[in-house]
Amino acid sequence: MKLTLQIQLLPDKKQADQLKSTMERFNQACSWLAEQAFEIKTANKISLQLIPVDPRNTSRTCPKCGHMEKGNRTARGLFLCRACGHFDHADIVGATNIACAAKVAWREVAEPRLTAAAKYSDKLHLQRVSV
Ligand SMILES: [Zn+2]
Repeated sequence: MKLTLQIQLLPDKKQADQLKSTMERFNQACSWLAEQAFEIKTANKISLQLIPVDPRNTSRTCPKCGHMEKGNRTARGLFLCRACGHFDHADIVGATNIACAAKVAWREVAEPRLTAAAKYSDKLHLQRVSV
């Protein structure tokens, strides 16, 4: 014999808001994970290496002088550095900062590999010559 118990939750307004907020954050996390998986799968298909970059404050940081301040975003879409006066579209500033961070991260990954490859390239060259 199988017994089934049905429970109906009756959250109050505060609990309902918290549940809704939790579900929204959960959905955002799932979307982000799916997006990451898609990007990794796509990159692997065409032999690209993804370089993860922390996007925090990239549209608040001046790409010219490095000054970071919330007030650098004077209006929607506009970036104006309060330290040096540099201005541009906020999306351009964010993309520039992400590209610079990726370039730095890439150097950290690529330089040891290039150094190791250079070490072995001499041996490979000698082996080829001796054959
Ligand atoms: Zn600046």
